[in-house]
Amino acid sequence: MTEPQQVRGTVVIDTEACKGCDLCIEACKPDVLVMTTDETNTRGYRFPNLLVGCTGCRACADVCPDFCFQVFRYNQPRTWTPEGGLQ
Ligand code: SF4
Ligand code: SF4
Repeated sequence: MTEPQQVRGTVVIDTEACKGCDLCIEACKPDVLVMTTDETNTRGYRFPNLLVGCTGCRACADVCPDFCFQVFRYNQPRTWTPEGGLQ
């Protein structure tokens, strides 16, 4: 990713509670959740990681059957650049 990205929110993911069902991946409209491929939690399940560009929409939290997501929405949108990270 090389273009600046607007970021409106972020999530904290309880990866240990995840059962790898993929529902959050399908629910995330900006497509900023991606399942691990090799890494699993201690129960043997793959889990999602967050990429840049979360909108704080809460769709992942609403769909997750295991309540793995805490969603936070920034008061002001922030900008992510490859050089400076999240500003
Ligand atoms: S809050 Fe919305 S944009 Fe952010 S990870 Fe969840 S579904 Fe995706
Ligand atoms: S919806 Fe919840 S349980 Fe299913 S993969 Fe996503 S975080 Fe894991």
